[in-house]
Amino acid sequence: MARRADQPLKCPSAQPGMADVRLLGVISRDGETPTLAYLDEPVAPTPDMLALAEPLPVSHVFRLAANCEEKKCHHFDGARCQLAVRIAKMLPEAVDKLPACTIRPQCRWFRQEGRAACLRCPQIVTGTYEADEVLKEVCGVPPRRDATPANEA
Ligand code: SF4
Repeated sequence: MARRADQPLKCPSAQPGMADVRLLGVISRDGETPTLAYLDEPVAPTPDMLALAEPLPVSHVFRLAANCEEKKCHHFDGARCQLAVRIAKMLPEAVDKLPACTIRPQCRWFRQEGRAACLRCPQIVTGTYEADEVLKEVCGVPPRRDATPANEA
């Protein structure tokens, strides 16, 4: 799906309540580490669908995409998403080929960091409590903050 010039870029680690939310995928926990299983098409989630995550937070079960909030987001420096920069620079690759992802033409991370972001993208779990120390640093989280989500990607 091509992106029109007037369409906003998409944040691929979004929260419910952001504009034009889509389900990007479901977090698979079959392996040693959580990994995103991408959906074949970006579905607009209903409240009932998001409620399936309970009692876990939505972001521990689903990855959401939504319109990038740019200056309203603490990761945006006025020109670029610094979360995407850190992901591309600091995380190891999670896969060796581009994931089959439906939002690539509109994705902020891909627009900025290209293939490097996509090869690391599946390991990102928005708001997870399970992030290791490198992932916490990537997400801009202080080293110790008890009872607080460890990864605020
Ligand atoms: S796989 Fe690439 S294009 Fe898709 S959400 Fe992740 S960074 Fe964006």
